[in-house]
Amino acid sequence: MYRTNTCGELRLANVGQTVTLAGWVQRSRDLGGMTFIDLRDRYGITQLAFNMEANAPLCEQARKLGREYVIQVTGKVIERSSKNSKIPTGDIELEVTELNILNEAKTPPFTIEDQSDGGDDLRMKYRYLDIRRNPVRNNLIMRHQMAMLVRNYLSDRDFLEIETPMLIKSTPEGARDFVVPSRMNPGEFYALPQSPQQYKQLLMVAGMDRYFQIVRCFRDEDLRADRQPEFTQIDCEMSFVHQEDVLNMFEGLAKHLFKEMKGIEFDKFPRMTWHDAMRLYGSDKPDLRFGMTFKEVTDVVKGHGFGLFDSSELVVGIVAEGCAEYTRKQLDALTDFVKRPQVGAGGMVYIKYNADGSFKSSVDKFYDAEALKAIADKMEAKPGDLMLLLCGPAMKTRVQLCALRLEMGNQLGLRDPQKFAPLWVIDFPLLEWDDETQRYYAMHHPFTAPKPEDEPLLDDPSRWGDIRANAYDIVMNGTEVGGGSIRIHDRVLQNKMFHTLGFTDESAAAQFGFLMDAFTYGAPPHAGLAFGFDRLCSIFAGADSIRDFIAFPKNNAGRDVMSQSPAPIAPEQLEELQIAIKKN
Ligand code: ASP
Repeated sequence: MYRTNTCGELRLANVGQTVTLAGWVQRSRDLGGMTFIDLRDRYGITQLAFNMEANAPLCEQARKLGREYVIQVTGKVIERSSKNSKIPTGDIELEVTELNILNEAKTPPFTIEDQSDGGDDLRMKYRYLDIRRNPVRNNLIMRHQMAMLVRNYLSDRDFLEIETPMLIKSTPEGARDFVVPSRMNPGEFYALPQSPQQYKQLLMVAGMDRYFQIVRCFRDEDLRADRQPEFTQIDCEMSFVHQEDVLNMFEGLAKHLFKEMKGIEFDKFPRMTWHDAMRLYGSDKPDLRFGMTFKEVTDVVKGHGFGLFDSSELVVGIVAEGCAEYTRKQLDALTDFVKRPQVGAGGMVYIKYNADGSFKSSVDKFYDAEALKAIADKMEAKPGDLMLLLCGPAMKTRVQLCALRLEMGNQLGLRDPQKFAPLWVIDFPLLEWDDETQRYYAMHHPFTAPKPEDEPLLDDPSRWGDIRANAYDIVMNGTEVGGGSIRIHDRVLQNKMFHTLGFTDESAAAQFGFLMDAFTYGAPPHAGLAFGFDRLCSIFAGADSIRDFIAFPKNNAGRDVMSQSPAPIAPEQLEELQIAIKKN
């Protein structure tokens, strides 16, 4: 037997027992007469004690052990004289009588400690060593626990976990596909799924009623910060449901996870229409951990000779409570912030509502105290508050103000990662105009159903932008953690949708023929949703990065720096696939 116990297991109750442990040498301390070693495995750390007097050769051997050596020890559990209350095994130690080196180890390139001295790249290159560290290992343990809770919750509610293919047909809608050449069909390619969308809908046509899958998805997008080319979704689909049924089911799942993982109980999650989210927060994923909702003052500010405001479609601002004392420097920094290309505003107007009731603003030339008071009243600002205003085309300005609101939230410490603010955003637009290609795209995907009352608008191209969808997102702390929709199950409506998206009958049939065919054989009304599982884990842990919750992630350039992929393949492989690489 390699071990009788794990390194996280032994307590005072075990004192007197002879046990065998195996694990890695975390660190050793040599105190002359005694040598102490911290032995680590996944479960914890146990202190080993070697006594020079009792067994000098053994003690000498222990002194020579390097960090990360794999060893096996046998000894007696004894009570420690100086206890360590920081670890669960801190009351005991093992008085070692036998030591067996199972494997030597090179000195690791960084310290295997909670605060490692290794930089990101180095730790990614040696990810298997990184995972030995508590924080990374605990993230993976947490991920497993979440996955188990999800599986059990859904299985208890009659969802079946069904696997769908990884090699599928490429579709032009959505993000860019990763493609896989087919050797047996030269010149033809599979795509890796961006999501199992069409298959889960087919499973509904197949009568499976409730499906889920914790499934890898692939999107070949330009990598923005904290995106992974492969990521995991909790993908779900249900038959014979209304939107209300879907929201309740998955709100239930989210609440269950919060209760089990964090001991937090929620009332009903708030709901907001997409339109209100954009109007009040400038975002379809508002961070509701703090208020600072948008106040529109277009009417109040016009007619005072300030050309910029007078000519703007929208003048809108936020109130930073108690910030009237912001210094010139702080305000300049905020102006610089909104002028950064990522935000793109032309500038920012501030109005200080001083504690004594007076005003100081960057537009004093145009607005007297009375006019500034009218703005303050419209914005519901109080003495001591700071108002920050942006202006321009409505949607663009809202999005810019959203960035400023989040920045103020950060500055004022209002975005506590241990505080959780869930939200459903509902009634998304069905279609989204793209200036570049001069056509509408499905905002969610082409299978999303319009709201029945908006369906007639499909016949009027001038109104396409107004059509609302039965589509919903679940948002947590300003991040979209999931989304889905009621699907179109009617072939005629689906055809109309394809036409709206610029497909001809032929091109729709070529792309989606199998789904369309399936819909002629009795498709039930159905709907679904997918959670981004990596993101959900990171939010539950109050962490920023999803990478920390993926065992072997890619770096920001989409590379696996450990295995060095992607990598060229051999000329014979290319030949077999009949792929010619153009040489520059
Ligand atoms: N397939 C969708 C997505 O990946 C989710 C859904 O509609 O169920 O976002």
